Amino acid sequence: MKIVGMVGWRGMVGSVLMDRMRQEGDFAGQETRFFSTSQAGQLGPDVGSGSKPLSDAYDIHSLAESEIIVTCQGGDYTNRVHPQLRDAGWDGLWIDAASSLRMDDSALIVLDPVNRDVIDRGLDQGIKNFTGGNCTVSLMLMGLDGLFQQNWVEWVSTMTYQSASGAGAKNMIELVNQMGELGGCNSGQAALELERAVSEKLRSTEFPIENFGAPLAGSLIPWIDRCMDNGQTREEWKGQVESNKILATGQTIPVDGQCVRIGAMRCHSQAITIKLTKNVGLAEIEQVIDSANQWVRVVPNHKEATCAELTPTMVSGSMQIPVGRIRKMTLGPEYLTCFTVGDQLLWGAAEPLRRMLRIALGQL
Ligand code: NAP
Repeated sequence: MKIVGMVGWRGMVGSVLMDRMRQEGDFAGQETRFFSTSQAGQLGPDVGSGSKPLSDAYDIHSLAESEIIVTCQGGDYTNRVHPQLRDAGWDGLWIDAASSLRMDDSALIVLDPVNRDVIDRGLDQGIKNFTGGNCTVSLMLMGLDGLFQQNWVEWVSTMTYQSASGAGAKNMIELVNQMGELGGCNSGQAALELERAVSEKLRSTEFPIENFGAPLAGSLIPWIDRCMDNGQTREEWKGQVESNKILATGQTIPVDGQCVRIGAMRCHSQAITIKLTKNVGLAEIEQVIDSANQWVRVVPNHKEATCAELTPTMVSGSMQIPVGRIRKMTLGPEYLTCFTVGDQLLWGAAEPLRRMLRIALGQL
């Protein structure tokens, strides 16, 4: 059995990955060694053969005993440890949730329902570094997989509604604390008085914003990550570069939009405008979207189905990628709009890594 080293397994993405691996019985097919940057020596998780002490995630020697390393530890860890391992001659497979290596020529971005051919080719060519994609990019590609397969996409504009979980565990907690503060404003007063009390609370210097830097509950934040030279945020920049790298497009498909943080807990949503390469009928478009992979599902464009099935509330914790609100825009017959929701900790983070590990082990 191959030795798989796991780093970052107790963080947010790592915990979701561990849950999925347990659910799917993955640990039976590998010898797993657990590492920690802060808890070496303490007992690690029991995944079927008892708990063993955690190894030091900075110990290059013991890391190098693994044939495959899966890390959800973060970019700083990758930047520090990955070059040391490679310099020491380690030639195992590195599977990483962080963005550090994503655009590096030595790495592929994995999303196998969409780019299994690219992954297989990369493995054949001796590629050793595999990273998960940005969450909104992966979720958008899962939803629009069929349209890309048909080469019907001339360009895409995505307006995102991104959840607190994408910013990390502390931010999720801060959002709920903010909600609690606002709930405390409600003393049965008239609606406009309540609104004034809420606005006052949101603007008060006491309001908890240490992690988001601005109120999110009762508001939104139209900025995610740092600024690029062209006025895009880095989150927006990733849309085009990562989509095209995942799809291995010969000619770049333009992807751009605005990324917005909203007060959802765990799912990212996106309102998408697509310029089609030709005028295709709506029924055919829906059929192509719906049948592209086993997780995507078309939600009929009516109110009941949309409110019941196309929301973060319904999608959280699920592998499904519903795509709804599909219609031709009044801009012209080649302009399509749709709305999609996906769990950013599953398909947006942990699941592509889990599946890449299974592919590397020859089990998928
Ligand atoms: P995280 O929750 O902050 O966990 C990272 C590490 O922090 C853990 O592995 C753990 O390492 C350490 N840690 C310290 N105190 C902890 C505590 N109380 N509970 C759990 N872990 C603790 O990071 P993350 O959000 O999972 O992100 C990991 C990587 O995935 C990042 O590169 C991120 O950019 C990327 N990513 C994240 C998301 C997302 O939605 N959050 C989505 C896609 C990609 P030790 O055991 O070594 O101390």
